[in-house]
Amino acid sequence: MRAHPAGPRHGEILAPSGAPPLPADTDALHSLSPVVWPLTTARSDGAGLTARSVSIAGVDVRDLAAEFGTPLFVLDEADFRMRAAAFREAYDDPQAPADVFYAGKAFLSATVARWVAEEGLGLDVCSGGELLTAVRAGFPADRIALHGNNKSTDELDLALSSGVGRYVVDSFEEIVRLADAATRHGVVADVLVRVTVGVEAHTHEFIATAHEDQKFGLSLAGGAAEEAVRRIVKLPSLRLLGLHSHIGSQIFDTAGFEVSAHRLVGLAASIRDEHGLEVAELDLGGGMGIAYLDGEDPMTPGDMADLLRSIVVRECAVYGLTLPRLAVEPGRAIVGPSMVTLYEVGTVKEVDLGSGHARHYVSVDGGMSDNIRTALYDADYTVRLVSRVSEAAPVLSRVVGKHCESGDVVVRDCWLPGDLEAGDLLAVAATGAYCRAMASNYNHVPRPAVVSVKDGVAQVVLRRETPDDLLALDAGLTS
Ligand SMILES: *Cc1c(COP(=O)(O)O)cnc(C)c1O
Repeated sequence: MRAHPAGPRHGEILAPSGAPPLPADTDALHSLSPVVWPLTTARSDGAGLTARSVSIAGVDVRDLAAEFGTPLFVLDEADFRMRAAAFREAYDDPQAPADVFYAGKAFLSATVARWVAEEGLGLDVCSGGELLTAVRAGFPADRIALHGNNKSTDELDLALSSGVGRYVVDSFEEIVRLADAATRHGVVADVLVRVTVGVEAHTHEFIATAHEDQKFGLSLAGGAAEEAVRRIVKLPSLRLLGLHSHIGSQIFDTAGFEVSAHRLVGLAASIRDEHGLEVAELDLGGGMGIAYLDGEDPMTPGDMADLLRSIVVRECAVYGLTLPRLAVEPGRAIVGPSMVTLYEVGTVKEVDLGSGHARHYVSVDGGMSDNIRTALYDADYTVRLVSRVSEAAPVLSRVVGKHCESGDVVVRDCWLPGDLEAGDLLAVAATGAYCRAMASNYNHVPRPAVVSVKDGVAQVVLRRETPDDLLALDAGLTS
């Protein structure tokens, strides 16, 4: 992870070999792999190159751009529901009951909260704003879990008055704060202890350490988790429901979960030995990975569920514990692949890289304000020309935004047709998670709309911000 793209990769611009492989032909340059594009994405096969635009759920991207403007997030409802249902079914095992909580921080709106409720999932929120969205959308509060390493008294009050089902406690202060608030509300709050298990997972690797140097959770090795349990069981307004851990994101296998489940179950056994109580729930968190590029191969929810279940069953047998109710919290794996970003090309600049190589800088009408992940995490994305097809030869390209910042990159290295021009539409795949959710108003650029598509119909999920929305905050203009 790094802050500025001109660092480690700077030297590579002279060697286009650092780029993805050259597409075999113009078909490959226009391919829409189902691994990265939403379920209903299709390219029409009408006569003429400009007729061969892309549609999602039967809605032509050119019509979407014309009606709603660009940049635009397009959310495939069928794809989202299919992924949510796949998770619910994967964890629906009467022998080992489990809950799936959609991690709302990946992307949340009232519409999405309703889909999540209808698909039978629970919901994770981690702020008052996310909670309010869910509550106002009518999401059943008993199926909401409240996360966060610094929940305020106001947030706890909102949660308690809404009837939130689970509190994932993250600090000693919060235990007292929540117990006091629950007493004031005259309720008993169900809590899970967020345990820092010493596992850090990221994509293909994980590290297991004894200590944890991070802001989340109560350390297992340092004894803070056990101390938290001691404090919770003494408080009549709190009930210890379970243990929680979240080891990372964009995880492709179960090795990290295996270590964390082993450590959590070990803690559950020592809680039983010390307090004579067995924890009812074990939440292994989220982080299930998705494909951003063709050829990436994340586990299916079903395969991962089977493995996680067998790990927990085995660990509980070792300690002679009753199998607790399992929970997982996928965010990215549900909404990530369901959304794409549509951009309009504004300028194309050819830059000479030396040694006979050139790169096209393709500037689009959004950028780091609607997708910070490339700049922040060095994320890779798949991009396609979607308003037409082109027979021009592919050119090594970089899709950049319109912000006053050289790190404003959307797709660092890609091949795009050499004849791109102003007005062409590009789509970037798998932008559902942590893009609109992390959007900013940098350079006073209004945040894009989110539109859902289903059966040929488009509906606004979040409207586009207007310049007036931005100016309305400026006291020097409104007072
Ligand atoms: C971020 C987060 C998630 C979701 O992570 P994804 O990578 O989107 O699946 C789940 N649980 C907790 C506690 C988180 O912080």
